[in-house]
Amino acid sequence: MSTSVEIAGRIGPELIELRRRLHRIPELGLDLPETQAVVLEALAGLDLEVSTGRGLSSVVGVLRGRAPHEGERPVVLLRGDMDGLPVTEEVDVDYRSEREGRMHACGHDLHVAGLVGAARILAERRDELVGDVVLMFQPAEEGPGGAEPMIAEGLLEAAGRRVDAAYAVHVYSADHPRGTWFGRPGPLMAAADEVHVVVRGVGGHGSAPERAQDPVPVACEIVLAFHTAVTRRFSVWDPVVLTVGRIAAGTKDNIIPDDAVIEATLRTFSREHRELAHRVVTDVAQGIASGHGLSAEVIIGNGYPVTVNDEGEFTFAQGVVADLFGADRWADMVNPEAGSEDMSFVLDEVPGCYLNISACALEDHTRAEDNHSPRAAFDDSVVPDVAAALAELALRRSRLLADGA
Ligand SMILES: [Zn+2]
Repeated sequence: MSTSVEIAGRIGPELIELRRRLHRIPELGLDLPETQAVVLEALAGLDLEVSTGRGLSSVVGVLRGRAPHEGERPVVLLRGDMDGLPVTEEVDVDYRSEREGRMHACGHDLHVAGLVGAARILAERRDELVGDVVLMFQPAEEGPGGAEPMIAEGLLEAAGRRVDAAYAVHVYSADHPRGTWFGRPGPLMAAADEVHVVVRGVGGHGSAPERAQDPVPVACEIVLAFHTAVTRRFSVWDPVVLTVGRIAAGTKDNIIPDDAVIEATLRTFSREHRELAHRVVTDVAQGIASGHGLSAEVIIGNGYPVTVNDEGEFTFAQGVVADLFGADRWADMVNPEAGSEDMSFVLDEVPGCYLNISACALEDHTRAEDNHSPRAAFDDSVVPDVAAALAELALRRSRLLADGA
């Protein structure tokens, strides 16, 4: 019987070919018809229950294990995002993007190939798999977000039972030497929310403010109070960043305007502080406005939540990749990243872990450009490792779940 790493090595050239095929045809957002067709073709013949999204071009595959098992079957979810970016590729490879102004600049083409590889490994090792695996091929990670609508369309119940644990891998074009896995327990990426405040007053003549309700000084007070609140209401060990990037009111020096607008970005690194920050921002704006006899309307656009790695799942997943590839290919992440990621919607629902691996194409990773750059180059020799890691996470976690762990 072959191991996952052995199978990945055998099918590796086909997975790399698949990645390069996808690299040529990057698509954006929720509607990825060409990518979806390639995924469906790659999964054909694997004996999966395949369904496609209604409101987006997602693909969900359910792979049923055949290992004998009493009681409820464990369900593990593996995710690969599929979308590209509006970037013009400057990487000089013979499989470069054939779509003007579009590029797989975040390496999601490697994620798709890795997840297809995991499906093939698991199909081959089906007799050793005790439960079911949900394969999540997701559009629109780069916006407007595909994970949330996939959950709404029944992703987490796709196997007939709710998913027990979920895993995803992201490739990086820089940061670490190629082949290095990295991650951290707890918060991994930030939540990023847009704050929009309208201070509503009553306009009038600048010479007679007592006959108006001037929103301008109230808006100024709110901005200052936001910064005070960040330092007084939140522990310094769980950072909150609130930056007012725009404040706008009025047309002329002697006219009091009807209203004033404040726009801010709010970054948080825990679910608790995100919730608290939404309350604090709302209370401060409305409290100050009402103290002056005005009102404030606060809209907080819900961005992606904090991406949180469950502590136990992280320990498990880190152990799997260290076991498969050696401890010298692991690096701890000290701090979370301030970017955000919509796998967070899945990890808000079920425990799981999101791991990173460097696919840096340069020998000197310190000279490489980051994901999203037109010069971000990903070495697809890591694709078989991604496939083997995802397959092993599913195989081993299912076994542990079946054993009641
Ligand atoms: Zn990405």
